[in-house]
Amino acid sequence: MQVGEKENTLATKQIPKLKSLLKKYRQARTIQSGLLQLSELASSVTDMNSFYSALEAIIKTILITDSFHITLLNSRQNLSLAYSHNPSEKSILARHDSDNWENSLTGLVFSQAKIICCNAQERDELSKKYHLSLYNSLCHSWLGVPLKRGNQIIGVIALQSYDNFTVFGERDSQLLEFIAEHLVTAIDRVRSRELLEKNIIERTQKLTETNEKLQKEIAERQKAVKIHKALLAISEITATTTDLDSFYQVLHKEITTLIPSNNFYIALTSQNNQWIDFPYYKDEYHDIAESRKFSNGLTELAIKVGEPLLVKGSEIITLDENGDAKYHIHAINSLKNKTPKAWLGAPLIDQGVAFGVFAVHHYQDVNAYQLSDLDLVEFVSQHIATAILRIRSQAEIQRSNEALEQAINERTKELQSTNLNLRMQIEERRKAEAQLYYEAHHDALTKLPNRAMLTDRLGYSLRHLKRHPSHQFAVLFIDLDRFKVINDTLGHHAGDLFLVEIAARLQDCVRDNDILARLGGDEFVILLDSLQSEDDVEDVASRIINKVAMSFELEGHTVHSNASIGIAMCGKHYNDSNEILRDADAAMYQAKSLGCGRYVFFDESMREQLIASMTLEQELRVAIKERQFELHYQKISDLENTKTIGFEALLRWNHPEKGLLTPSEFLFMAEETGMILDIETWVIEDVCLQLKHWQSSVEYKNIFIGVNLSGRHLTQANQLSKLIHLIEANTVEPQRLILEFTESAFAQHTELALKGLKKLKEFGVKLALDDYGAGLSSLNFLHGYPFEFIKLDRSFIKTLNLDNKNLSLVKALHELGGNFGYRLVAEGIESAEMLEKLKNVGCDFGQGFHINRPCRIDNEDNGIIHVING
Ligand code: C2E
Ligand code: CA
Ligand code: CA
Repeated sequence: MQVGEKENTLATKQIPKLKSLLKKYRQARTIQSGLLQLSELASSVTDMNSFYSALEAIIKTILITDSFHITLLNSRQNLSLAYSHNPSEKSILARHDSDNWENSLTGLVFSQAKIICCNAQERDELSKKYHLSLYNSLCHSWLGVPLKRGNQIIGVIALQSYDNFTVFGERDSQLLEFIAEHLVTAIDRVRSRELLEKNIIERTQKLTETNEKLQKEIAERQKAVKIHKALLAISEITATTTDLDSFYQVLHKEITTLIPSNNFYIALTSQNNQWIDFPYYKDEYHDIAESRKFSNGLTELAIKVGEPLLVKGSEIITLDENGDAKYHIHAINSLKNKTPKAWLGAPLIDQGVAFGVFAVHHYQDVNAYQLSDLDLVEFVSQHIATAILRIRSQAEIQRSNEALEQAINERTKELQSTNLNLRMQIEERRKAEAQLYYEAHHDALTKLPNRAMLTDRLGYSLRHLKRHPSHQFAVLFIDLDRFKVINDTLGHHAGDLFLVEIAARLQDCVRDNDILARLGGDEFVILLDSLQSEDDVEDVASRIINKVAMSFELEGHTVHSNASIGIAMCGKHYNDSNEILRDADAAMYQAKSLGCGRYVFFDESMREQLIASMTLEQELRVAIKERQFELHYQKISDLENTKTIGFEALLRWNHPEKGLLTPSEFLFMAEETGMILDIETWVIEDVCLQLKHWQSSVEYKNIFIGVNLSGRHLTQANQLSKLIHLIEANTVEPQRLILEFTESAFAQHTELALKGLKKLKEFGVKLALDDYGAGLSSLNFLHGYPFEFIKLDRSFIKTLNLDNKNLSLVKALHELGGNFGYRLVAEGIESAEMLEKLKNVGCDFGQGFHINRPCRIDNEDNGIIHVING
C-alpha cells in the first residue's frame, strides 16, 4: 500500500488522534528546537549571563514556567545563587542568605543528589522533615534537578510554578534533567572559556608586564649607555679642555642628552665666598644672571649643604649616607619672577670645600628630575670642579710663568743695563788705565816712551837675547849740546819746543820697531832692535848727528845744537836694562868729552870710568860722614891799597888715599847727587867758626868771607830757609858772609832765585855773582839783582893778557857798578901787570895766585892769623 492511500483512508478516523499527534509533534518540535537551541547555545556561549538570559527564553518555551533559579558551588564549595528568574517573588531570592542554600530545598537536591519534584504540600512536608527554610513560599509546584558533571554535583537548577494548573511531572523532570545536562556543559564550556580567557588575560597581562619590564630594562639600559657615553664624553672634555667657556658649552650639550637641561647654569663663589658669579647661564626666562651677594637661594643652599640637591616643588631632597632620600621643605626664592617646578644641582667641591654649583631646573614639570639624577649631577659636578680647578691652576701656572718671565725679563734688562754700565765703567777704567799706563810710560812733553817703558822694552830684548843669542840690538844714549843754554837764555818754552823738535828729528832716524825714549832733560835713548850689524847702528847714529846739527828756529831765534851719542851693543853679560843704559851713558860721556857731534861705542875702559865714578860717589858719602873736608882761603884784596878785605873759602877734600882733592875732581859728583848741600852745610859751619876766630883778631876783625854756594840753596824747596837758619845758628855776623852764586845757579829759575837772593840780602848777608864773563854774562844780573859784588871770571881776565879790548868792558862794568850798587872783583890775577891793568880801569877788588894761593888757616898761632901759602 501506498502511503498516500493509507493516509486518505485513515484521515477521517484518525484526525483527532492526528491532531493530538500534531500537537504533540509540534510540542516535541518546540522542545526539540529549544533543546537544539540550548545545545547550540551551550556550545557557542561566551558568557554565562547571556547564556542565562537565553536559557530563560528556552525554559519558557519548552517548560510551563518561567521561574527558575540556578545555584552553583562556589570556590568555597558553598552553594550560591548563580541565576534566578522569578517574576512572582522577585525580592525573596535577594533576601535569601546565600549561605543558607544548604538548608533549602535546593540544598536538599544537592545533598541527596536526586531530583525532587513536589507540590506545595509535599514541599512543606519535606521542609519539616529536613528542617528546611523555604523562600519561595507561594509556589505550587517545585522541581529541582542536580547539575552533574560526571559523578560530581556542581549545583542545582530548580523550577517553580505559581500556577495552580501547572504541576511539574515526569516529562518536566526529564526535560529539566536534559536542560541540566546542557547547562553543565554550557557552564563548563563558559567556565572553561572564561578560564581560558582569564588565563589568556592573565598570560597577556603577565606578558605585558614582562614586556613592560623588558622595555623598562631596555630603556634603562639605553639610558645607562647614553649616560655612560655622555659621562665618558664629559670625562674626556674635562681632561682635554683648555677654555672654560667652550667647556661649559660642550658640557651643556652633553648634559642635554641625559636630563632636561634647557635651564642650566654654573655658579662660582668669589670674593671670600661673599659673592656668587655665573660664568655660564642658560635659562628660558632669564638671559643673563648678574653676580649677586651670597643670599639664601638654592645655589647657596647647595654650597652650604655641600651635597647634591633635588627640589620638587617646595620639597628638597638629598640623599643620606645610605643613598636614601631625605626630604626638607625650602622656600624657593632664588628665582624671582619665575619659580622652577624642579631644581637639580650639585656643589663643585675642592678639598671638601664647595666653591660653586652646577644646576639644572625645570619650569614646567615637577618630575623633570629623579632621585637617580642626584648621582648624575654629582658626577658631572665633580668633573666640572676638576676642569675648573685644572684650568684655574693652569691659568695660575701660566700667570706665575708669565710673572716669572716678566721678572726674568726685567732682571735681564736690569742686568743688561748693569752689565752695560759695568762694561762702560770697565771701558772707562780701561781707558783710564791705558791713560795712566800711557802717562806712566810716556813723556808728557814729547809723547815719547819714558824711562819706565824703555826699561821694560830693554828687559824684554835682553830676555829675548838669552833665548836667541843671534839676536842683536843696540842702545844709543844721546845728549844734546846747548840745551841748557837754550833753556836758560830763551826760556823754558823755547827749551820745550827744542826738545819736541829734537824728538821729531830723532823719530825720523829710526824704524817703527825701534824705541825712541826721553829719559828726562835733554837725554834721549834709542833702542835699535833686530840689527844686522854694527854698521846699521853707525848709520843711524850718523843720521842723528846730521839731523840734530841742522839749525832750529825757536821763537824767532836760530839755534844750533849737536848730538853726542854713546852706543852700547847688546851682550849676554848684561843682566838688566840699567846695566846697558849705564854703559851707553858712559859712552855718551866719552863722546861728549871728545867734542861735540860724534858717537862712541862703549868699551871696557869706559866701564872702568864708570866704576870710578861710582866709587867716587861712594867715597864722597863716606867723606861727608867722616868730615874729610877742609877749607882753603884765598885773599880778596882791595886793588887800590892792597889791603885784604876778605877771603874766599875754597873746598878741599882730604881723600884718605888720593890726598887733597880740588873741587873739580869731586864737586860735579856732589852737585849731581845733591850731596853738595850736606857738604856746604859743613862749609858754612866751618866758615862761621873761622869768623868767630877772626872776631877777636885786630887784623881781620871786619873781614868778609866769600862762600861758594850751589844754586840748589835758592831753587830747591825749603833750602833757603834752612840756609838762613844755619847761618843764624852759627854766626851773629851774617853781614860778613859773601855768598857767591854763579849765573847757572839761578838761570833756570830766575824768579825763584831773585826772590831768594832778596831774602838773603834782607837777612843781612852779602851777595856776589861769581864767574861773570864766562858764560852768557847777561847784563840783567847786574842791575835787577841785589849783588854787592860781581866777580869777573878767571877766563875773562885771562883774555886781558892778549888784547885790551875787554879792558874797556871792565871799565864800563865798573862804572855801571856805581849806578847799580855793586863792586867788581877780578879773579885769577896771576901777575902784577894784570893787577895794575885792572886797578887802572877801576876794578875794585881782586884775587889770584899773584896775591896768594888758596891755603889753610892756622887759628892756633897766638891768635895771629897767618895765611899759609898753598
Ligand atoms: P872759583 O869760585 O872761581 O874759585 C876760584 C878758583 O880759582 C879756585 O880753584 C882757586 O884755587 C883758583 N884760582 C885762584 N886764583 C887763581 C889764579 O891766579 N890762577 C889760577 N889758575 N887759578 C886761580 P879751586 O879751589 O879749584 O876751585 C874751583 C872752583 O870750585 C871754584 O871756582 C868754585 O867755583 C868751586 N868751589 C870751590 N869751593 C867751593 C865750595 O865750597 N862750594 C862750591 N859750590 N864751589 C866751590
Ligand atoms: Ca868763587
Ligand atoms: Ca869764580
